[in-house]
Amino acid sequence: MNFSDSELIETLLSEQGLGRAAGESEADLILINTCSVRAHAEQRVMGRLRALKKLKDRRPEILLGVCGCMAQRMGEDLLRELPWVDLVVGPDSYRRLPGLVSRAGRDNPVQAAELVLDRAETYHGILPRRRDEVSAWVPITRGCDNFCSYCIVPYVRGRERSLEPEAVERQVALAVEGGAREVVLLGQNVNSYRSGPTGFAGLLRRLESVPGLARVRFLTSHPRDLSDEIVEAMAGCGKVCEHLHLPVQSGSDRVLEAMNRGYTRDYYLDRVRLLRSRVPGLSLTTDILVGFPGETAEDFGRTVSLMKQVCFDYAYTFRYSPRPGTAAAGLEDSVPEQEKKRRLQQVIDLQLAHTRAALDSMVGAEVEAMVVKPARSGQGKYLARTRGHFSVILPAESSQVGRVVRTVVTAHTGMSLVAGAGCDT
Ligand code: SAH
Ligand code: SF4
Repeated sequence: MNFSDSELIETLLSEQGLGRAAGESEADLILINTCSVRAHAEQRVMGRLRALKKLKDRRPEILLGVCGCMAQRMGEDLLRELPWVDLVVGPDSYRRLPGLVSRAGRDNPVQAAELVLDRAETYHGILPRRRDEVSAWVPITRGCDNFCSYCIVPYVRGRERSLEPEAVERQVALAVEGGAREVVLLGQNVNSYRSGPTGFAGLLRRLESVPGLARVRFLTSHPRDLSDEIVEAMAGCGKVCEHLHLPVQSGSDRVLEAMNRGYTRDYYLDRVRLLRSRVPGLSLTTDILVGFPGETAEDFGRTVSLMKQVCFDYAYTFRYSPRPGTAAAGLEDSVPEQEKKRRLQQVIDLQLAHTRAALDSMVGAEVEAMVVKPARSGQGKYLARTRGHFSVILPAESSQVGRVVRTVVTAHTGMSLVAGAGCDT
């Protein structure tokens, strides 16, 4: 979502005639787009902003701004704490950025903050420039209403709102006109997308008829809102890829309840069963959060056993960090850091083994892969992606970028598949 917001910011500023600088030292304006989800992400931003003071001392005319969730959370405190920062702009105020930049430049510079969360702002009508040739991000919802007890997102990104289906369709069609072959629909919880009579399943069905579009993906799904209708739409829509990111967070009902996730372990497992029976070959990824306040060794054991039961293809794993203002911040952060680290390492190791097993099982199989870009290893090798979102390294040519090819997997590296030259589908 933040990468997508950075594209949006770049587009808004380019309409003012601003362009991308080659590097920090040549820039007249430096904007840092930030995340507040974990304390560590914020600490890194503070470090970066402190380091930028030297550049500001040398070239005081540079404008330095902070965008995104941390800007929203800290607001004017950020300007007080780091007086060399000029602009602080929250996620619903990016339309104001061009005006702020030209005003700050003119008044040489004065500190300013734009922090109003706007439940109507969907950035309708702005078609972000893309940096990726083949795949385009299309935010379909902004904000979140779920208030999971550990999570700061609803406080810093405001209430959930959906972009009208016509506007989504237009964005997708324009992305395809601009060369994209795949779209990734974005939102904190895309499953609760709703605009008038159109829910998320209806939106997926609508996108089936966009000419020239080969693949549709989406991020993130909330298990509670993954209805039978959505599963049926995934099963029935040829363009929708067989990949679902379905964060479970924990395998313990007690912890899930304390997290305010709105589902139980059994319900989650039931969704997985339905998905696997209706969407054969589905690749399933998740988020795991360890060390939530009060998580006992037994609760953690339930998470491990759920991971073993489901065998996710990939998992993003996190160590709980209390976030100010959230419900969980009022609970005692009871799991010692050392123990959180130990639990985290255990789930990382388990997931590595599961990912390896998934890759092993694909060796020898024929896959459909979309050629994305030259691989870092070079030498005529390209990065492609399977419908299940596995990376594939294969020999290809630049003219094949954006094409879907059929190829046979010959090996893997532990993270990516390796395949022979593909033939067009
Ligand atoms: N809307 C998405 C993503 C939210 S943030 C969702 O519901 O899945 C991405 C992940 O960060 C979450 O899934 C969670 O695992 C993790 N996360 C959120 N708050 C956190 C916190 N306070 N400490 C550690 N990890 C956190
Ligand atoms: Fe945070 Fe929960 Fe919303 Fe995801 S669904 S953004 S974890 S509150």
